[in-house]
Amino acid sequence: MKLSSSSQIEKLARFKTHPYRATSFYLNTDKSQQTLKAINAASKALINQARQELEGKNLSPEIKNCLQSDLEKISDFCQKKLSPLKSPGLAIFSCSGQNYWQELELPHGPRNRIIMDFDFYTRPLTAILERFKKMCVFLINRKESKWYEVYLGEIKQIDSLLSDVPKQVKKGGFEGYESKRIERHIEAHLLEHFKKSAEKTFDILKHNHFDWLLVGCDDVFYSQLESLFHSYLKERLKGRIKARPDTPESKILKECSEFEAQLKRAQEEELVKRFIDELERGGRAIAGLADTLRKLNSFEAQSLIITHNFSHPGQVCPKCHNLYIKEENCLICQVKTESATDIVDEAVELALTRGLPVYQITPPTRLKRYGNIGVFLKYKNPL
Ligand SMILES: [Zn+2]
Repeated sequence: MKLSSSSQIEKLARFKTHPYRATSFYLNTDKSQQTLKAINAASKALINQARQELEGKNLSPEIKNCLQSDLEKISDFCQKKLSPLKSPGLAIFSCSGQNYWQELELPHGPRNRIIMDFDFYTRPLTAILERFKKMCVFLINRKESKWYEVYLGEIKQIDSLLSDVPKQVKKGGFEGYESKRIERHIEAHLLEHFKKSAEKTFDILKHNHFDWLLVGCDDVFYSQLESLFHSYLKERLKGRIKARPDTPESKILKECSEFEAQLKRAQEEELVKRFIDELERGGRAIAGLADTLRKLNSFEAQSLIITHNFSHPGQVCPKCHNLYIKEENCLICQVKTESATDIVDEAVELALTRGLPVYQITPPTRLKRYGNIGVFLKYKNPL
């Protein structure tokens, strides 16, 4: 099943696993960024590590069996299904004790992880849904208009309109006054077609929730069309794509994904630039894993910025949840720290729990030169 709405997430979040526990599995399966071999290796490493962690846990045999069985099922699934899988991300939710199993194909690669807990871990799903914009695509030519909804890598036609606009007459076919009269007659029809289409676009946007409006039409029509848009449409108008009413759906979808990716890329670059500028002038930012953890621990971080899928092992204090790279004892409570496979993941969790924004930057990025991680600070960093 594909991830397509927040109701799927709510259903998972509401699921009662009691008296057992549940396993949530996330895997980046983006084959444009890594080989199948690397994806397989990553899934095996995750599962093996979860098995080891489970061994060492002090749980009742019943609960342990349930979780072990989850891991076996996930391992089987990965061995058989990773190769034909086309989506860039995969999530599996399993609670063998309650006989529950749900796999979800994701439109974006998540951070790799397995979480065994009292309930399903759904935060990465919410983050993915937030990442995608719901787009209304409005395509128009001289006589036809079409509207599509594009969301989470899927496209569906919402509406269409066919107007009775006479064909353009060849120049020179009529003389003087008559020719002008016919031209005006055609223009009136065309304007009527544009007006009706702009009104319908307004209706569609008013009755459905869309984040963006994208328009596809010939250059000669655009300014006239835009002048007919209600201010409500102009607010949502995000840009133009190279598609017309007769463009195949697969091509429209591709245009939209490229548009979205380009915009996302530009936003990320802007953010990285802002971060580096801030760093270099000694302002409210700090880079590198050690300093990032320190500023998170001391509640000085305002937001977290990381290269997507950057990871590093570390230590977590079981008492106060402070994060460290190497400390064997917590600097605050002196309690012995526990090792964490991915301290970056723990940092993301901590930030999200505190309601701090987490920006994941798609590599390659200049952020790499700064240790792939950093924070914007609430206050200027004292040197
Ligand atoms: Zn502590």
